[in-house]
Amino acid sequence: MDQKAAAALGKTPEERLEAAMKKDPLLSSETRGAKRISEAATYANYQLISTQGIGENWASVGDAFGFVDPMLSPGMMLALHSAELLDEQLSTKALEDALQVYSTKMTESLNAWRDLIDYFYDGRIFELHDRGSEFQTKFPFLPLGFIETFMNTNMSGMASGFTTAEPWSRGVLKYAERFVLGNTPYRSCYAIA
Ligand SMILES: Cc1cc2nc3c(=O)[nH]c(=O)nc-3n(C[C@H](O)[C@H](O)[C@H](O)COP(=O)(O)OP(=O)(O)OC[C@H]3O[C@@H](n4cnc5c(N)ncnc54)[C@H](O)[C@@H]3O)c2cc1C
Repeated sequence: MDQKAAAALGKTPEERLEAAMKKDPLLSSETRGAKRISEAATYANYQLISTQGIGENWASVGDAFGFVDPMLSPGMMLALHSAELLDEQLSTKALEDALQVYSTKMTESLNAWRDLIDYFYDGRIFELHDRGSEFQTKFPFLPLGFIETFMNTNMSGMASGFTTAEPWSRGVLKYAERFVLGNTPYRSCYAIA
């Protein structure tokens, strides 16, 4: 959740939890009459990408190199991928080059995941979906289904890790954002908007 949106809900975690539950229609109806029986726990952002993931005769792998996405859960995949990539580089290049290439590729991969997950955290992905659906409802005579299929396929490829860092997939998402959202505001905190 966006920090400013969270702060607007109240001063303490308890106040924020209760305000969020009250504001959201689904949560408020589901929790009518509910009573809190423990303290409200908070969880701060633990996204990180190491500024230095390699050094003389050492390299970090997995979470030690970076962890960016608790939502789409690529942690295990990236941990295994980093070990595989390091092994591949070490068996084909001299040590220093191997570590450098490994570090560059891992940083690119983590940055691509962080870019993707930002779309979910700040609500752009939901806004894109909603605006597409609104457009289809407004112009039912236009054959727009293929655009939805195309966007869904692109998003599945990215969210499953197959094409997360591919320039084409990232470009499609950026272009859709520019074309559909433009400079219009979108709901920064979707659940309680
Ligand atoms: C609550 C939770 C839910 C998650 N859910 C998912 C999920 O659904 N899907 C997914 O893909 N990922 C998930 N992840 C992330 C995933 O677990 C991690 O990204 C992944 O385990 C990272 O692997 P790793 O080998 O880099 O690190 P770790 O699995 O953390 O392994 C590091 C190991 O090093 C050991 N260690 C630490 N310090 C030392 C030391 N000084 N000496 C010796 N050993 C040491 C630790 O005990 C640990 O065993 C989740 C993480 C959490 C916390």
